[in-house]
Amino acid sequence: MIAGLGLPGTAGAQTAAGAPTAQTASLPHAAAAPPAVLAENRIYRSGTASPLSCPIPEIREGSAASLKTFHRAMARCADRFWATRFRAAGLTYTSPKVTITTGSSSVCGKITSNGAQYCPTQRTVAIRIMKRDLTDPFRMNIAHSVAHEWGHHVQQLTGMLDEQNRLYWRARGSARSIVSHRLEMQAECFAGVFYSVALDSIDPGITWDQWIGAVREAEESKVHGKPRNLAYWQNRGYTSGSAGSCNTWKASLARVS
Ligand SMILES: [Zn+2]
Repeated sequence: MIAGLGLPGTAGAQTAAGAPTAQTASLPHAAAAPPAVLAENRIYRSGTASPLSCPIPEIREGSAASLKTFHRAMARCADRFWATRFRAAGLTYTSPKVTITTGSSSVCGKITSNGAQYCPTQRTVAIRIMKRDLTDPFRMNIAHSVAHEWGHHVQQLTGMLDEQNRLYWRARGSARSIVSHRLEMQAECFAGVFYSVALDSIDPGITWDQWIGAVREAEESKVHGKPRNLAYWQNRGYTSGSAGSCNTWKASLARVS
């Protein structure tokens, strides 16, 4: 069941055509001293999540319509959750658009083979229904598309995604990968914070430890970083229930490799 586990796509900004000219200005230590918008963001003071109950329906094997309904329900749940956390932090929240397709293109390009993408400019969570979701639905993995991409939406609304994008294009080589990992691991942590109150509603059919074990065993991706670190951050968000535990920008290199 866990063999096909793949991480949802990254935020589309990094793959946007036409890299800014900042690419030529090398700032090798940029990640070592992150700007305040990343290191001291107000979202870290959004407190501990309040209980949440969402109606998340069953998935019927082979039914794209049923998968769409599931994703829509997950989206409504994530939206409610983050609206509350933003209010608690004194931040303004706006909902992203959500598109669900069985094809491979979204408003900001091709959706990765892992089935989801966040388009920052269009503020859109783009979900692709994959064949394996129809033939062998792994409920928690399917739920994770919305949970992870919503993490990128949180990063967009708080200014972190733009700042990360600047750092990303200025950095080179392994420093650039680390900037990418910090973003992705934070999205994983935000997903974990959401799960801390939404897991019962999602009713994944496996235990949290089994899920984290599956994340740890997933294939390594250059963009996301080491699965064991992704599992660490997701679990950290889940156990703390607070976005304040998701400051990957100050974390040691070993935790974001
Ligand atoms: Zn991502």
